[in-house]
Amino acid sequence: MARYTKAVCKLCRREGQKLFLKGQKCYTEKCPVERRAYPPGQHGPAHARRRKQSEYALQLREKQKVKRMYGLQESQFRNLFRKAVKKGGVTGENLLIGLEKRLDNIIFRLGFASSRNQARQLVRHRHVEVNGRVVDIPSFEVRAGDDIAVRAKSRRLAVVEASLTARTRPSLMGWLALDEKNRVARVVRPPTREDIPMEVQEQLIVELYSK
Ligand code: SF4
Repeated sequence: MARYTKAVCKLCRREGQKLFLKGQKCYTEKCPVERRAYPPGQHGPAHARRRKQSEYALQLREKQKVKRMYGLQESQFRNLFRKAVKKGGVTGENLLIGLEKRLDNIIFRLGFASSRNQARQLVRHRHVEVNGRVVDIPSFEVRAGDDIAVRAKSRRLAVVEASLTARTRPSLMGWLALDEKNRVARVVRPPTREDIPMEVQEQLIVELYSK
């Protein structure tokens, strides 16, 4: 799967807010969103001066923001949306819950990695186990009762240590239980919308894809 390999700070500037795509560096380095509060590119400043955005533009930006936060490609994001529709109930919530249940996101939420990008790399490089078996698929969907661990040989990895001991590490979410010393965790229950600490208007994404 192709990955975005260019400067990630441009993505934050395009969305006009901090998406924390560089992990700890977002707290220790000067953030370009604060220094240049307009979209990247030649016409960025002019774009920022334009006040009114169309309904479509609002929907598109909300979708791009969430997609970029979780580091997904358009096809992956759309597939998750299709799954969310099939599930029934509130599609927008199903979509966000589907994103939260990805293995790379859980590794990030547990604090084993300081960004989802780093978490994806840990998974891809076979440092993570689910229920005692190595899983190297970042999109793997975890379920309630699953045990997630950093493999024994990887428990002292510098990136894991640094991430767990970082002062800026977010607090652990209620649907996850962590034994930090042994680098083992359990999914206590599926997440709900209230568990997802993001200011997202998911309804806009549903409207965009329902056109
Ligand atoms: Fe985004 Fe972090 Fe770069 Fe700031 S430093 S623009 S939050 S990736």
